Amino acid sequence: MGTNNFYYNELHENFGLSKKITAIIKKAEKAITSEFENIDELSEYNQYKVIKSMQECRISETHFMPTTGYGYGDEGRARLEELFTLVFDSQDALVRPQWGSGTHVISDALYAVLRPGDALLSITGKPYDTLEETIGFSQDNPPQGSLMDWGISYKQVELNAKGEIDIQKVLDILDESKNIKAILIQRSRGYEWRPSISVYDMQEPIRKIKERRPDVFIIVDNCYGEFTQKIEPSIVGADITVGSLIKNPGGGLAPTGAYAVGTKNAIDLLSYRLTSPAIGREVGSYAATYLPFYQGLFMAPHVVGQALKGAILASYLFEALGYEVLPRWKGEREDIIQCIRFNSDEELIAFCQAIQQASPVDGHVVPVPWEMPGYMHKVIMAAGTFIQGASIELSADAPITPPYTAYLQGGLTYAHVKYALTSVISQLNEKGLISI
Ligand SMILES: *Cc1c(COP(=O)(O)O)cnc(C)c1O
Repeated sequence: MGTNNFYYNELHENFGLSKKITAIIKKAEKAITSEFENIDELSEYNQYKVIKSMQECRISETHFMPTTGYGYGDEGRARLEELFTLVFDSQDALVRPQWGSGTHVISDALYAVLRPGDALLSITGKPYDTLEETIGFSQDNPPQGSLMDWGISYKQVELNAKGEIDIQKVLDILDESKNIKAILIQRSRGYEWRPSISVYDMQEPIRKIKERRPDVFIIVDNCYGEFTQKIEPSIVGADITVGSLIKNPGGGLAPTGAYAVGTKNAIDLLSYRLTSPAIGREVGSYAATYLPFYQGLFMAPHVVGQALKGAILASYLFEALGYEVLPRWKGEREDIIQCIRFNSDEELIAFCQAIQQASPVDGHVVPVPWEMPGYMHKVIMAAGTFIQGASIELSADAPITPPYTAYLQGGLTYAHVKYALTSVISQLNEKGLISI
C-alpha cells in the first residue's frame, strides 16, 4: 500500500495527519477485520433488542414530555423504567436523572439492602476506587456515613489466578460469616489490571451462592459493561444491576442519571432509599425532556460498538509499539476499557494530553494531574466531552502511580477514536517517547 495516494495526501493536507502513521493504522485495520465483524454482529443484535423493546412498550412522543414538582403520574419516567426492565431482562427498574453518578446508585443499592450488623462481600476483588470511602474499608477511622460507620462490615475475595470468581472461597466465607447480606460483583475492570467478568461466567457462581444462601442480595456494578455482550446480569440471577447513564446505556445523549434493574423486591427496597419509605418510586420529576434518555438507549448498542472498535484498534497499535495492553486486541471484551501500560509518568501524561487535544470540546485545554474526590492517587483525566465527565465519549484516565497504566475508553464514533490514536502516536513520536 503506497503512502502517496489521494487518501493519505488528503488527510495530511487537510488535518495534518502523518502519512506514515495513517498508513500504519490502515494496515492495523486490515489485521483486525474479523474482530470488527464480531462487534458489528453484537451491535446489530442489541440494536434489535432495543427496538423490539421500544415497540413492546409502545413508546410515543408523549413520553418525552417534561414534568415538574413531585412528578406524580410521570408517564415519561414510568415508561422509561418499563423499557429498561425489558431491555435488561428484569422484573423491575428505576431510571432516574436524580442519581448524579454511578457511585451514587451503587451506594444507594448497598444502603438499600444492608442493615447495621450485616456484612458486604465483594467477590471480584477490590471494588472501584470511589467505593472505598463509601464502604469505609482500609480506613483507620471509617468516613462519616460510610457503611462501616453504620456498623456494616466488609470482606472481599480476590479473583483467582485465571481472573475468575473464586467460588469455593466465596462459599466458605458464606458458611463462616452468616451476617453476609449482600454480594458485590463488578463486571468491568475499573481501575484495576484484571480481566472484565463475562455475564456468562457469573451464572454458575450466582447459582451456587443462591443455593447456599437464598437470602443474600447479589448486586452487580454494571458500569461500562452494558451492551458489550448479548445478555445482561439480571438474566443470570443478579438481584440488582446498576450503572451510570453517562456511560454505555445513555448512548452519549443522556445528560445525567443512573439506572437500576432487578427483582421486584430488591428494586422496591432501592426505591425506599431513592426517596423515602413513604414515597418510593412515585415521585421524581424532570423539567427537561426525557427524549435524550430514550434516544440515548436507542443509540447505545451502536455507540458501544464504536467504542469497542476504537479500543480494539488502540490495543493492537500499542501492543505493536511494544507496550503491555489489557485486553489484547483479539477475543472477548466485557467492558469498553482498554488498559495500556506506559514506562513513565511522562509517557502517561503525554498520552492523556494528546487524547484531550484530539477532542471536539475543550481540545485546547491541557489536562494536568489533580486530587479528584473519591480517588486515592492523583489522577489525570482527558475528557473533551459534550456531557461533563461522560466516559462513553472518548476519554482517558490514569492514576499517577507506577505501573503507569492509562485507562482509555469510549468514543461516540470510531472515526474519532482513530483520529485521536493517529495524533497520539504522532505526538509520542515527536516527543521522542516512541519511535516508529
Ligand atoms: C465509573 C464506574 C463507577 C462509578 O461511576 P461514577 O459515575 O464515576 O461515580 C463504578 N464502577 C465502575 C466499574 C465504573 O466504571
